[in-house]
Amino acid sequence: MTFASLGLHEPLLATLHALNYQQPTAVQQAAIPAILAGRDVLAGAQTGTGKTAAFLLPKLQQLLNQPAASAGQPLLLVVAPTRELAQQVADSAQRYGAGSRLRTGVAYGGVSLRPQIQALQEGLEILIATPGRLLDLINQQALTLSAVQTLVLDEADRMLDLGFSDEIRALLKLLPAQRQTLFFSATFPKAVKDLAYSLLRDPQLIEV
Ligand code: AMP
Repeated sequence: MTFASLGLHEPLLATLHALNYQQPTAVQQAAIPAILAGRDVLAGAQTGTGKTAAFLLPKLQQLLNQPAASAGQPLLLVVAPTRELAQQVADSAQRYGAGSRLRTGVAYGGVSLRPQIQALQEGLEILIATPGRLLDLINQQALTLSAVQTLVLDEADRMLDLGFSDEIRALLKLLPAQRQTLFFSATFPKAVKDLAYSLLRDPQLIEV
């Protein structure tokens, strides 16, 4: 199995080659073609399985074929439970998108809003954020979610464990109904399953 056979093209293939990613992992093999086809995805995958590249690579490829984002209107929104995870996902997006015109921003609480607002005003195709700060930025009118084409919920179980259920429900109301949703979680207790099925449409199920 190769990344090319999953439907990825240059320049991502060259980037993966430079990073010495020789083979797609199991979650990448299942998720990349489904995401490229526009499907919703419900994936059970732990950290270390390659889940981040599984959603970033196909979305980067699609974003490269689209016009740039307008100020304050990201096209891909990744919601993550903690600042550490948000930063890691942002670092990965920068790495896989290196040399491209795609702009990635990261937003989390506990630090000044100003630079995050500034970056949003310059325009970002990709925003990775924690739920509370995302709502703050929307309330500050630094951001609208009306152009979001794809929502990724990363580590959804941790998001609920940390008590972000209300924030996620509030965010969902602000997103276009017509969108792709990619849901990643390590575990699936009832609350996580209920959330998943309330926001996914005919998802491709992936278990690794
Ligand atoms: P993740 O599960 O997304 O946290 O990724 C775990 C680690 O695996 C990260 O350091 C990635 O850079 C790395 N990685 C992801 N996909 C591959 C791959 N296909 N080949 C080699 N390393 C990979």
